[in-house]
Amino acid sequence: MICATCAVEYDGDALPQVCPICADERQWVPADGQHWQDLDALRAAGQHLVWAEAEPGRVEITAEPKVGIGQTAQLVHTPAGSLLWDPPGYIDAGTVARVRTLGPVLAVAASHPHMFGVQTEWGEALQAPVLVCEPDARWLGRTSDRVQLWDGDHELAPGLSLHRVGGHFPGAAVALWAGGAGGRGVLLSGDTVFPNPDRSSVGFLRSYPNKIPLSAAVVERIAARLDSLEFDRVVGNFGNAIESGAAAAVQRSARRYVEWVRGDHDDDT
Ligand SMILES: [Zn+2]
Ligand SMILES: [Zn+2]
Repeated sequence: MICATCAVEYDGDALPQVCPICADERQWVPADGQHWQDLDALRAAGQHLVWAEAEPGRVEITAEPKVGIGQTAQLVHTPAGSLLWDPPGYIDAGTVARVRTLGPVLAVAASHPHMFGVQTEWGEALQAPVLVCEPDARWLGRTSDRVQLWDGDHELAPGLSLHRVGGHFPGAAVALWAGGAGGRGVLLSGDTVFPNPDRSSVGFLRSYPNKIPLSAAVVERIAARLDSLEFDRVVGNFGNAIESGAAAAVQRSARRYVEWVRGDHDDDT
């Protein structure tokens, strides 16, 4: 079963009254209350996944029509194997087979609990571990032997690694793919940092739907953490991206954020 609002999976025989992820101040519960959906019913209603090659070695997978938050998953495939990042809240056999033609799946992982989707369903179908950043394990709604906890920095393969950054959630993470963007590096950021519609800056928030900020100290910490990673492109959880110059854009955006929350520009309000 999945929560209809966030599409995170739950054990069907132990459904909570309200999805804890949506009841949290970072998300929301619909005005008419909690709704649950089951994957078989979605399948029967014609739900499907759209597969789009975004760049050599990276595929974007999106549920159509939108399921839950409606993220676009990122599938990165390297000679050593692949990573399914921010998995959709839906799965189908055709897409599973297509993922498997690209080689062994090293891991299914999400940037943070809003993006868990049906991650253990994917992990089981792909016979891959589901990597969950340890501080956020309490948000798991489904138990599975596939789940493995990690923290800090976690290398999946040469040039493909996960890094805990924090901020949006204590365990909020990014994935770094060194071979992306023609070898200049791609950062898959979920909404740990959020590529903005201007395609030249990023946002940092505790809650995006409810607009809850982070402190200057936390944004400085995130920026310092990302400054140690080499990338030129950043891709968010809806396929929103800064195509190049992204490392500098992240640092510039963090400085701007700190200036505003410190009050440097209060004369302009
Ligand atoms: Zn939910
Ligand atoms: Zn989120």
